[in-house]
Amino acid sequence: MAHLFPLLPFCTDETHWSWAARMAALHIRGPIGIFLRDLGLDPYLLSIGDVGEVTRLCVIAGQDPKPVLRNTVTQHSSRSWRLGKEALTDCLCPQQELRFCPACLAEDDAMADGQDIAIHRRERLIWRLKPINSCPKHRLPLIRRERSDSAVGKGVFADCVPETATMLLDIADHAEPCLGSSLQTYIADRLAGRPGPAWPDSLPLEPVIRITAQLGAALKGGPYVVFDDLPDTEQDVASACGWSYIAKGEAGIRHALQVLQAGFETNDSTCIIKHWRAFVPLDDVLWHPPLCRPLRRIFDERFASIPGN
Ligand SMILES: [Zn+2]
Repeated sequence: MAHLFPLLPFCTDETHWSWAARMAALHIRGPIGIFLRDLGLDPYLLSIGDVGEVTRLCVIAGQDPKPVLRNTVTQHSSRSWRLGKEALTDCLCPQQELRFCPACLAEDDAMADGQDIAIHRRERLIWRLKPINSCPKHRLPLIRRERSDSAVGKGVFADCVPETATMLLDIADHAEPCLGSSLQTYIADRLAGRPGPAWPDSLPLEPVIRITAQLGAALKGGPYVVFDDLPDTEQDVASACGWSYIAKGEAGIRHALQVLQAGFETNDSTCIIKHWRAFVPLDDVLWHPPLCRPLRRIFDERFASIPGN
């Protein structure tokens, strides 16, 4: 079978859609929708990460499908998505939201060397994940824009990021640097296939994110604080706090429970927390199936030791 020429290699940090849009900019100097239809592919199926359609695009392009499929977020049901073995429901950004680091895009532009920048601007896979609020490389907050229609413009950033490299660097220079959180670093490493601490690595990613975030929120703000209600900067603080315990596995979680209880026990016996159900948002997370057994056992052991239970 004849392949597209030249091959625009897939970059291991980008989404499958980013690569397809870059190819459209290279081969037809136009929008991804027209490019895919010209190849006999269905833009909608590709946009929802249909494995068969993504594989067909790889075959046509002459690209090994394995790294592409590894980074393809596939719609599983109306509310759930899959990324490899991971099931993602709550930690993906809405599809219409496009996020980017201005310094990363400026670096992409610098590689263009006279070519159209749309061929080089990549949407990084980690930008699709809600818990990642900042660029781990440049420590800058990610900028949010509405994603443009795939029928117009060139590249993923077509009409939504009209800024030149100079303008992007200016935005980067004026942005308030953020420290990010160790949870964000863990997510980025895990998506890139790098091993992390044993206990979180043994569980699916989304429940690890949820328990880390909610445990951190409870430790920082009390038993009734809901992580999702916190502003980005406080979410980062809560995530980093939760991660410092979760990374140590079961021993770390037992320690976190001691800290939680010490923080909320008073001399008034009616205020003593005798059951983990008192931590309402945490209780909700604990019903998540993959977390149920290991975490509820730890919580039950801890609270069973309290007099009066
Ligand atoms: Zn960056």
